[in-house]
Amino acid sequence: MSNEIRPEQLGAARLDTIPFSGIRKVFEAVRQLESQGKDIIHWQIGRTDFDTPENIKKAAVESMMRGDVHYAPNRGVPALRKAIADRTTKETGVPVDPDTQVIVMAGANEGILVSMQAFLDPGDEVIIPNPNWHHYKSCASLAGGVPVEVETREEENFSLRAEKVAPLITKKTKMLCVTSPGNPTGCVEDQENLKALADLAKKHNLIVLTDEIYGRIYYGEEETAPSILSIPGMAERTIIINGFSKTYSMDGWRLGWTVASPELTLHLLKIRQYTTVCVNTFIQHGAAEGLGGDQNVIEQRIEEFAKRRRIIADGLSAINGVTLAKPMGAFYAFPGIQAFGKTSKEVADYLLNEHGIATVAGSVFGSGGEGHLRIAYSCSTEECERGVVRLKTALESM
Ligand code: PLP
Repeated sequence: MSNEIRPEQLGAARLDTIPFSGIRKVFEAVRQLESQGKDIIHWQIGRTDFDTPENIKKAAVESMMRGDVHYAPNRGVPALRKAIADRTTKETGVPVDPDTQVIVMAGANEGILVSMQAFLDPGDEVIIPNPNWHHYKSCASLAGGVPVEVETREEENFSLRAEKVAPLITKKTKMLCVTSPGNPTGCVEDQENLKALADLAKKHNLIVLTDEIYGRIYYGEEETAPSILSIPGMAERTIIINGFSKTYSMDGWRLGWTVASPELTLHLLKIRQYTTVCVNTFIQHGAAEGLGGDQNVIEQRIEEFAKRRRIIADGLSAINGVTLAKPMGAFYAFPGIQAFGKTSKEVADYLLNEHGIATVAGSVFGSGGEGHLRIAYSCSTEECERGVVRLKTALESM
């Protein structure tokens, strides 16, 4: 008998805790249906239908033509770090030093990975909302950490309630993950709950990883959703994760950032030297123009998302049996479909295969997402309008 190890057995043991993304499986199914000529409503993808604004593309091309084609500093080019620091201060009221507190990352996801690697020892616990953006859980596991999930509920607008977090904190808890506005729910943490979470973090000496990638796609009174960094005493223990993929329609550019205290940033930087080292130089110059330049086009796009949100929310509320926690940010709705007596995967498969509506089953985002569907209204307004009509027919005839 051969002692040879089969290729599928060669992966490191820690990979056993890491799934392939359930969202990607939907993309594949959509691709196949479209190749058969089926008309699909594209609610499966958290990617905007807009192009990257012209001024950003132009600045990146000019930078490339100037010869900015060599390694950038590990932390990022100074112009972009300054734009990130200024914007963070504008949004949170907290002073940020561009030289010691900002790292430009290859997407928000790199920021999450690097943070987990930098701060988790094996066995350290990380509190994560359930349902959640799956990177927190997988990146925590890859670093040897233990994800501790807190179920969030539609009746509470999927808020990560501090009173539910408190009993789960142990001596091993090291980090608390907050996502606001949230993916997959579109819900936003209010100031009062953020304050209660901040009190817990200070009391138990926790690091707070706050993913604010949808911070500007916010439908409240202010320009951005509230940030936990604004709360006194949080600057020394908060890592902001943010990026250009959503607000600036730059997901293919792979560009994001972290903001943290100078001390925390040094730890992040150590890991960062061994991940992507630095981000492509000329795209950083393009992005600096994006953050620092005219924001008119961004404001118009946020208006457009607000219009789509209204279409989706009104459309869902007109369907018998569907419930909805009103999304206050991002471009997601997370309707409840428990009344139909099927799992979220069964409903999502039925909608895709029988009616050409691509959503993602809530269970893909964790057990707390069961009984829900994620609708990403990042497609065109016209597609949203057609989609809600089709969805009503589909669910009412199921
Ligand atoms: N964080 C959240 C909450 C997201 O929803 C996403 C993408 O969908 C990301 C991070 C990834 O962002 P990036 O493209 O900058 O890596």
